[in-house]
Amino acid sequence: MAANRTFTMIKPDAFEAGNTGAILKMIEEAGFKIVAMKATQLTPAIAGKFYEVHKERPFYADLCTYMSSGPIIAAILEKDNAVEDYRNLIGATNPANAAEGTIRKIFAKSIEANAVHGSDSDENAEIEGSFFFSQFERIG
Ligand code: ADP
Ligand code: MG
Repeated sequence: MAANRTFTMIKPDAFEAGNTGAILKMIEEAGFKIVAMKATQLTPAIAGKFYEVHKERPFYADLCTYMSSGPIIAAILEKDNAVEDYRNLIGATNPANAAEGTIRKIFAKSIEANAVHGSDSDENAEIEGSFFFSQFERIG
């Protein structure tokens, strides 16, 4: 996956609340192109694998339960400087600290149920995008 791409999920809280369309609108209006997208539901085991880097953290078990609690949207997004620009669009992990106008400030319910995922590096964007999509499920 090219360095101008990032990976996102619309998490169960935002999907359940019916905020998928509004979030995708913000993403497109910020200049990101959707180059892969699917609706799916994670099992606890798949959520655990995706968040394996956090397995020593106290919130890991709850996070895996939450992330498998309902449907999500997974997507690969393309834009110049995608990883950094998308982190700026979504805002801080804890919505209480997120800047006004960011996706998490507008839609997140808590530090855990924080509406969206966004990759934190080009390397992780590649790993996470490939975790969800084969080369035949994405554009380019
Ligand atoms: P981000 O998603 O902003 O990159 P992290 O990678 O640190 O944040 O954490 C992954 C996810 O774990 C967060 O998006 C959130 O859903 C959850 N999380 C992070 N910190 C906490 C916490 N202190 N308590 C509960 N859940 C947390
Ligand atoms: Mg992270």
